[in-house]
Amino acid sequence: MGGTAAGAGFAYLDHAATTPMRAGAVAAMLPFLTERFGNPSGSHAVARDARRALDDARDAMADALGCRPGEVVFTSGGTEGDNTAVFGAGRQPGIRDGPDVVVCSAIEHHAVLDPAERLGARVVGVHRDGTADLDALAANLDDRVRLVSVMLANNEVGTVQPLAAIAELVRRLAPRAVLHTDAVQAFPWLDITEMAAPADLVSVSGHKFGGPKGVGALVVRDGTVFDPRQVGGGQERDRRSGTHNVAGIVALAEAARLTVEERKATVERAAGLRDQLADGLLAAVPGAFESGARAAKVAGCCHLCFEGIESEALLFLLERGGVMASAASSCASGAQDPSHVLAALGVPRQLARGSLRLSLGTTTTTADVARALEVVPDAVHRLRRTGS
Ligand code: PLP
Repeated sequence: MGGTAAGAGFAYLDHAATTPMRAGAVAAMLPFLTERFGNPSGSHAVARDARRALDDARDAMADALGCRPGEVVFTSGGTEGDNTAVFGAGRQPGIRDGPDVVVCSAIEHHAVLDPAERLGARVVGVHRDGTADLDALAANLDDRVRLVSVMLANNEVGTVQPLAAIAELVRRLAPRAVLHTDAVQAFPWLDITEMAAPADLVSVSGHKFGGPKGVGALVVRDGTVFDPRQVGGGQERDRRSGTHNVAGIVALAEAARLTVEERKATVERAAGLRDQLADGLLAAVPGAFESGARAAKVAGCCHLCFEGIESEALLFLLERGGVMASAASSCASGAQDPSHVLAALGVPRQLARGSLRLSLGTTTTTADVARALEVVPDAVHRLRRTGS
């Protein structure tokens, strides 16, 4: 099964899991895998060449993220950015069993939720429409709170959180807190320079927007108290040691630049296709429910639950019909545990077992949507008939 989705004989509707790399990002990185191989921490000409590329990439990322170049910390991706934010800002440096409190939303990705739970976090519920419950958040804020982490867009149902209102509460009720937002799923769709502006820490990941896997960035705004997790050679101004992944960083920056340049057009196209897909499936399949409020979602996300079927069996039939999708978040090795996100939205367990996430991206075509509209209803009807 080679090639990208376009023309490859299948409909790739799993862009929230990962995206095909943009051709421009691949082209940008290749020289740094071959002749321009320097280590930017060195001092000779080969090293200085890599350093210049790194500096240019930092400038480009700063533009895309709405921060100063010195506030960009390159990471190995979303998980590292999120872990660094939670462990790095969730505790007062040097204090192991202090009274510091971490607060996060119940629909965070596990890259936030798991470290937060290790620090004994207060986990705050959300409304049924998939947006943060601001009253519940306010009730959990006080001056012991050291870190608040609320994602900008959810990875399963796609809902966007009201970060400006959250920031207002945090600044007022938890004045010692650092505010982190996981913008990994938001970056392809939303103007991060504006929407993530109220946050002190912002994590993004290259492979969600046409960059390579294993590279990302964490914005650490000047003055944010933060304890580095990875120490050693002192790279990234001592905030993240380790020899730079120059090729990956260059490609990340190019993918970010292209994403920003094309974002408005991509959002318009994807929203139209997503609406066609969601409305078509809701009309074709009785007992189908949309999870989260459509109006609150990023353009590329279509999430439905089907009564009386199991996602695992559905995904199997979809793949046979040439539709690549997922049930929930695809991070946990295909594990079909009930989704904590759907549980937080109050979706009954029985219904959550039949969940389907179809996520669109820059390469999605009308043919992909047409194929899903043909294959998904047919698969659901078959499963219901056979009772599997
Ligand atoms: N945060 C969110 C919202 C995600 O969707 C993901 C990946 O699916 C991550 C974090 C983890 O990012 P990475 O795969 O780069 O480690």
